[in-house]
Amino acid sequence: MLDAKVGRAGRSVNDTIGGTVTERKAKDAAEPERYATLVREQLALIGENPDREGLRRTPQRVATAMTWLTRGYREDVRMMVGKAIFEEPHENMVMVRDIELYSLCEHHLLPFFGRAHIAYVPAGRIVGLSKLPRIVDVFARRLQVQERLTEEIAAAIEDVLQPRGVGVVIEAAHLCMMMRGVEKQSSKTITSALRGIFRSDPRTREEFLSLARGRSMALSD
Ligand code: ZN
Repeated sequence: MLDAKVGRAGRSVNDTIGGTVTERKAKDAAEPERYATLVREQLALIGENPDREGLRRTPQRVATAMTWLTRGYREDVRMMVGKAIFEEPHENMVMVRDIELYSLCEHHLLPFFGRAHIAYVPAGRIVGLSKLPRIVDVFARRLQVQERLTEEIAAAIEDVLQPRGVGVVIEAAHLCMMMRGVEKQSSKTITSALRGIFRSDPRTREEFLSLARGRSMALSD
């Protein structure tokens, strides 16, 4: 543990990214058997018979599913990116659009899902493109609100790459709005986080937002 920390402390280390304390707590909390006991109790509370055929293994299945859906608490962006950072003089915007994401809202534990569009302008370093969707998952696979998810992805990219700027747009549909409460089935929530020149340079911001918007408009046609 100590070695890992020292090894990762070479650059500006921001522990909120990996959230070591939270991680450890989450590891303790992801005890499938304890969780299954709770689910069994929950089934009884909603008026079901946890012993009937169809539900008998449900507590274990839910425990396994929840461990998977919240695995982001046990992941660390810097370790996940690993060696996939390369010196590269490329100076133009790099964008990955339409990254599928699935998360759970922290208010109702119901899913929200949609797409993330991520761009950055490198400052001498680029990251392997497949790592951007994985960074999304580190934070999406936790209990979230969409606004924080968007900011955390941007902060993590800024932290590992130190680019000239980074932009993240997320468009998502929330089941807690669609199947309960206001029951608005077709509404989408759009959030953005802009850092560095994506915030300070209007042309970079416009370029990014129109690229992100372009796809959304095509989708809704
Ligand atoms: Zn909700």
